[in-house]
Amino acid sequence: MTEDNIAIFLDRDGVINKEVNYLSNPDDFEFIEGSIEALKILMDKKYLLIVISNQAGIARGYFTEEDVEKIHGKMINILKENDVILDDIFYCPHHPDFTEECEFRKPKPGMIFKARDKYNINLKKSYMVGDTLKDIEAGHKAQCFTVLVLTGYGIEERNKIGTIQPDFVYKTLLEFAKNL
Ligand SMILES: [Mg+2]
Ligand SMILES: [Zn+2]
Repeated sequence: MTEDNIAIFLDRDGVINKEVNYLSNPDDFEFIEGSIEALKILMDKKYLLIVISNQAGIARGYFTEEDVEKIHGKMINILKENDVILDDIFYCPHHPDFTEECEFRKPKPGMIFKARDKYNINLKKSYMVGDTLKDIEAGHKAQCFTVLVLTGYGIEERNKIGTIQPDFVYKTLLEFAKNL
């Protein structure tokens, strides 16, 4: 099979929905302004839309996998009402202080590689979008283009830019989508 697919890998918290620090309750899930429209634009441009999310709140005992699934259910339903379909969601429930080390937790690129293998994605033409340098580092390790957005932790993370450099910086996911 050829590597035909190009993906936008999306961090979730602070990119799609508002960062609330360990989101555990679906009632607290709120889309960032313009993010639904952004996803629609990217979908219409024929990119695969794949969420790549660290959910260490599970390892920390703040919430369960079931809570995460409920949040994703809400996100998927609202997107569906807006004619947006996410292709997949990958998340890592681990944290090295509480569980074993794992190859999937960003800044490691394991979730991106897992998605590549599942969907035959050409990583060199794909993008990793995030609001932290951990997202950018994971994208670099997977040889994707990287985009830092200035929502969520983005503004403070931009001040830490040093050895890890995003290829692009956009104010929001929507601005990235419009410019892609
Ligand atoms: Mg984030
Ligand atoms: Zn993991």
